[in-house]
Amino acid sequence: MTRESAGSDQPWTSFSFGPSFPLTRPGAETHYTGHFMTEPLEDIKGVLLDLDGTIFVGDRLIPGAADAVDALRRGGLPLRFGTNITRMSRLALVNRLSEMGLEVEPAEVFTAPLAAAAWLEKKGLWNLSLCVPEATHADFGHFKINETSPQAVVVGDLGEAWDFARLNGAFRHIMEGAEFVALQRNRYWDTGDGPALDAGAFVTALEYATGREAMLAGKPSAMFFQAAAESMGVDPFNLAVVGDDPGTDVAGAHACDAAAILVRTGRFSEGDLTSNIPQPDLILDSVATLPSALGVGF
Ligand SMILES: [Mg+2]
Repeated sequence: MTRESAGSDQPWTSFSFGPSFPLTRPGAETHYTGHFMTEPLEDIKGVLLDLDGTIFVGDRLIPGAADAVDALRRGGLPLRFGTNITRMSRLALVNRLSEMGLEVEPAEVFTAPLAAAAWLEKKGLWNLSLCVPEATHADFGHFKINETSPQAVVVGDLGEAWDFARLNGAFRHIMEGAEFVALQRNRYWDTGDGPALDAGAFVTALEYATGREAMLAGKPSAMFFQAAAESMGVDPFNLAVVGDDPGTDVAGAHACDAAAILVRTGRFSEGDLTSNIPQPDLILDSVATLPSALGVGF
């Protein structure tokens, strides 16, 4: 049985709760939200951890994050660190985490470009027009760049490299029938020197002009979470998604039938629990208590 088939049209409210539910074990510091699963989290075979707000805030790890990751590893759970950050390469992210005190393998970092590449590969779309920053090109290294008649246009944060010719070229390809994939659709980002247009502004311009809707590769798209689960060899149903953002992490988990765990760090606010947005299956004070909630690391 899938979570979605459990009897409600809202997958995250379709669970019942048993008194022996393992998440209530001492030390798990769980919080009853009214949304429970019949499937114990012992069925979790892989964990997808959000980075910003969940593993670190600013340039500091959340206290206990490194020990928690260590415990999950010792518990034998495959991990992915899933992020919508597209401005840094995988290796740059790995180095940044290392500087903060968390050692992560490049293969454990899962990004929107990787989700897009997995989807394009599955569809057999090998000829691409890439409107993405140079740092991201490596993630599409096994594809062919074709700026004449691509099968798909991939749009990311091209930043200052955008000009009329690039935008109009993407517009024409999409009008001619190429698939339209957006790595993310953030409106703007803070450069430290004021806000700057992010990929979403260009994605929306192309959507407006073409009348087509972009396929979103980053969170909260199901494409992202499914591809991350697949990269671990785990069925999405057996995946725990851990994050601080109901709109991206929890919504995405529900979209692919994974368990959603919300942490009270980063951008979490108590208002998230009462508002009309996707509710998690479980809430933890921070990632530090995740191993005990999953029954590992005792
Ligand atoms: Mg986050």
